[in-house]
Amino acid sequence: MPGYDQTLQPFLWRAERLYPGREVVARTADGIERYTYREFGDACRRLANALDAAGIGEGDRVGTFCWNHHRHAETYFAAPNVGGQLHTINPLLPPEHVQYIVRNAADRVLFVDPSLLGALEAAYDEEAFASVERFVVVGDAVPETALEPVTDYDSFVGAHDAEYDWPELDEELPAGMCYTSGTTGKPKGVEYTQQMLWAHTMATLTPAGLGIDDSDVVMPVVPMFHVNAWGLPFSATAAGAKHVYPGPSPDPADLVSLVEEEGVTLSAGVPTVWLGILEFLEEHDADLSSLERIVVGGSAAPESLIRRYDELGVEVVHAWGMTEMSPIGTVAHLKEGLEGVPHEERYAKQAKQGLLVPGLEMRVVDDDGEEVPWNGEDFGELWVRGPWVTDRYFERPDATQQDFEGSWLKTGDIVTVDPEGYVQIVDRAGDVIKSGGEWISSVEVENAIMAHDAVAEATVIGVPHEKWGERPAAFVVPADDGVDRESLADELTSLIAEDYPDWWTPDAVELIAEIPKTATGKFDKKVVREEHADPELLAED
Ligand code: ADP
Repeated sequence: MPGYDQTLQPFLWRAERLYPGREVVARTADGIERYTYREFGDACRRLANALDAAGIGEGDRVGTFCWNHHRHAETYFAAPNVGGQLHTINPLLPPEHVQYIVRNAADRVLFVDPSLLGALEAAYDEEAFASVERFVVVGDAVPETALEPVTDYDSFVGAHDAEYDWPELDEELPAGMCYTSGTTGKPKGVEYTQQMLWAHTMATLTPAGLGIDDSDVVMPVVPMFHVNAWGLPFSATAAGAKHVYPGPSPDPADLVSLVEEEGVTLSAGVPTVWLGILEFLEEHDADLSSLERIVVGGSAAPESLIRRYDELGVEVVHAWGMTEMSPIGTVAHLKEGLEGVPHEERYAKQAKQGLLVPGLEMRVVDDDGEEVPWNGEDFGELWVRGPWVTDRYFERPDATQQDFEGSWLKTGDIVTVDPEGYVQIVDRAGDVIKSGGEWISSVEVENAIMAHDAVAEATVIGVPHEKWGERPAAFVVPADDGVDRESLADELTSLIAEDYPDWWTPDAVELIAEIPKTATGKFDKKVVREEHADPELLAED
């Protein structure tokens, strides 16, 4: 745009001037810390001066290895606004992934939480970390560590001034970076330009997005290393909302007490977080009256979860997105005219991944590249494009060629779209099971099994089969160890046989102790396949 670029800078500027006394709150190892937007702005400018002094400017990456807290939020505004690039690193990844990511991103400064120092040391490799000029431990002292050179955050920032003239930035400048968690192979880097982050922030503020405004108290439970905590630190600041950060891997009791004490109105996280809170509520009293809505995404929100929160007076805002999309793509709001429908019908709509957020475009294509009709039945791969969707991976022409076509991102999600435009994910492209040429949605079978009271978790994969190509096998973690294993397996088999086409019934239902998970808490079907996809499992025809 001639004369004006879309960047993150005005969001912080406005929040400080319009809401100087609004709070940013974080739970840390030392208890609750709180300060105002005015102080937050000062802290960001001090950090900007410190980054300047460390030589960070355009094109330089600043890595973070941190949980959700206010210091991490300071890096969100300081690093991109000096022209650098905020690169959030998932500390739960295996060491070799961390090495790959740091080497690939060539981070120059790396911020690390004291509680994550051990994980970083475990991943440290002189050659992979050759670009890192300085480690900054987020705290007021440096614990015993082999990493060097190392400074504590307070000393790194302390002597610097709270005055800082932000430089004029081009909106095409990369401002952020996040690697996809690698459920589908080697991590792939996604760069977010200033303009992408600006556009995503604005979209989240709209009612068709997340409708965040200055009355909100926003608590991101989704980690800040996972697609910028779904953009919430940016959105909350742009809106002038209060921020609440739950700190290192919070448990349900911590989250509930923050809701009660800080008056959280909106929170966000993966389904397992919300299931954990429901379990906690069975044993404890809590006052969740301030909590208006929870954004649930990352994997599908089960209908039972939507119902149970509705009964507690909390709206589940089911959203779908991807690292490549900054991340929000669809949100399952109720369309005008659907508000009055019976509860069950409403929950069924909310359990879909939802309606495309304004500003994006989508198409659903079959194997021949033809668009499939929006009839709620025909499957195809979802393609999307728009102002906050990337069109490439960082230094990965091979993966870029595979996953993009021009400006379209081929999401790898297999979906149906109903006549009202609600997108429903039926599977990931590699997970959908093809048996005798017919598709089986592993996700639907999993959900049906997980709806059974005696089941804690379940996953379904395709196992190679001589005659049919693939047949479904279910791996189930029972809710209670004492269960009669054989009768549960039989019961689950008949349950699917009753409700689904006959070829959908799993040929094997195996009870296991645990389902392997990815670093972001999703079922890791790659590992399930490696460990269990044994043709001998399947019953004889
Ligand atoms: P990865 O593919 O490495 O897990 P992401 O965290 O970017 O990386 O995950 C994006 C994928 O997560 C989507 O393509 C989709 O398969 C899944 N996903 C995200 N939100 C939802 C949702 N609400 N329901 C079902 N699946 C979801």
